[in-house]
Amino acid sequence: MLRSVILAASRSSRMERLVETAPLTRGVVRRFVAGTSPDDALRATGELVADGLSVSLDVLGEDTETPEQAVTTREAYVALLHALRDAELTPAAEVSVKLSALGQKFDEQLAYDGARAICLAASEAGTTVTLDAEDHTTTDSTLDILTKLRTDFPTTGAVLQAYLRRTEADCRELATAGSRVRLCKGAYKEPESVAYQSTLDVDKSFVRCLNILMSGDGYPMLATHDPRLIAIGEDRARWFDRSPDEFEFQLLYGVRPDEQARLAAEGYTVRVYVPYGTEWYPYLMRRLAERPANVSFFLKAVSRKA
Ligand SMILES: Cc1cc2nc3c(=O)[nH]c(=O)nc-3n(C[C@H](O)[C@H](O)[C@H](O)COP(=O)(O)OP(=O)(O)OC[C@H]3O[C@@H](n4cnc5c(N)ncnc54)[C@H](O)[C@@H]3O)c2cc1C
Repeated sequence: MLRSVILAASRSSRMERLVETAPLTRGVVRRFVAGTSPDDALRATGELVADGLSVSLDVLGEDTETPEQAVTTREAYVALLHALRDAELTPAAEVSVKLSALGQKFDEQLAYDGARAICLAASEAGTTVTLDAEDHTTTDSTLDILTKLRTDFPTTGAVLQAYLRRTEADCRELATAGSRVRLCKGAYKEPESVAYQSTLDVDKSFVRCLNILMSGDGYPMLATHDPRLIAIGEDRARWFDRSPDEFEFQLLYGVRPDEQARLAAEGYTVRVYVPYGTEWYPYLMRRLAERPANVSFFLKAVSRKA
């Protein structure tokens, strides 16, 4: 219930203005977002890499409405990839891209062209791109674009959401040699017709999908903070005899940093998803929807006077 309300608010421009202008929002944002500028992102990446972690950088922004915004996003990624290469942070750092930020909702070809330019810059920088998963109305389009991109850039990563009923079949399809697939629970508000609604059903689907990916030929990227699912991931890695360079764990910046360090100390590959930029509102709201403890922390900060 609370999750639905917060996810609905994530699409409200009135709520967005209220949250953005609240005096102490910044402190909460800083917990989940590395900063607003590329320099902030490079600094955070450098620190994580020095601690033995890998990184996937997300230039915040989604649901772009004009071709100009889409081009600006593309250019921001290309410049970021040049900067990562110059700072010798590749291949440890890659980028995560939302196709909706590249114009997918109004011009699929523009989004493909933008993603292709980013893949080219990533390849020249010696790293990779992963296409984030967004709401279910975009899944077919995103997987089509992924297939096209993989012709020239076979390491382009996919993201599959365990809450979608279709995802087991998508896992089977994508568990092929060299195929990088991030498995996450899914962060959007989806109808029952396409998505499991209960936590238990989503968790069970996650395990079924994890089994398909870990027993397949691809490169699974297990994106969760859930202790039980992480333990199952560790168990399956032993069972299917996967070495640390044959799969990875992924966690979000600012979430369970102790667990990130523990997994890395155990010898696993751990990638931290690092968002940065000024358009943090929908991202922040999705993080709040995931965890009631984050909401009370946030409400206290927002209601306090500066
Ligand atoms: C690297 C990464 C990339 C992602 N990319 C996408 C994407 O492209 N598309 C998409 O839809 N979603 C994406 N997500 C979000 C994902 O779908 C989930 O919404 C999000 O990860 C929350 O689910 P969870 O598996 O972490 O478990 P949850 O169900 O949120 O939490 C399960 C348990 O984990 C523990 N836990 C969780 N958070 C904390 C915390 N802050 N402190 C302590 N314990 C905690 C608690 O024990 C909790 O009960 C991504 C997530 C990650 C980690």
